[in-house]
Amino acid sequence: MAKTAGTAHDPNLDDMLRALARAAKSVPASGGVEIIAPFDPPPWPREQMMAMYRYLAAEAGLQKRCPDRRCRRTGQCQGGPERDGPDGCAELWDETQVHSLTTAFLALALGWACEAKRNEAMAAAFFSGEPAWPDAGR
Ligand SMILES: [Zn+2]
Repeated sequence: MAKTAGTAHDPNLDDMLRALARAAKSVPASGGVEIIAPFDPPPWPREQMMAMYRYLAAEAGLQKRCPDRRCRRTGQCQGGPERDGPDGCAELWDETQVHSLTTAFLALALGWACEAKRNEAMAAAFFSGEPAWPDAGR
């Protein structure tokens, strides 16, 4: 029987979230919280993109045959779109995997764009003196 993806008790989703958390953990911290002015666009999701890159690389098993020894040793892709130095895993991505990565990046960019737009709307409402949510308080 087919399972519904995305439910709270979906073991596949749990596995995916664990693998994603593992990939995110391998991304070096940016060195602190980026301070932005109120209503400014949120920081570009480069760390999330790096985590997604590593997650998809691991899902495809690229780290097992990567020329970068650290990937094979740690069992986790150490590459990424903005990584300093050569990215050993990059040459291993096939067309389908690149398509998945591109789609995932677009989803992250869409999330970023929606958040930026929301911030912009909040700023417009704030500076106009109008309530940001006209229906609020009814
Ligand atoms: Zn690698």
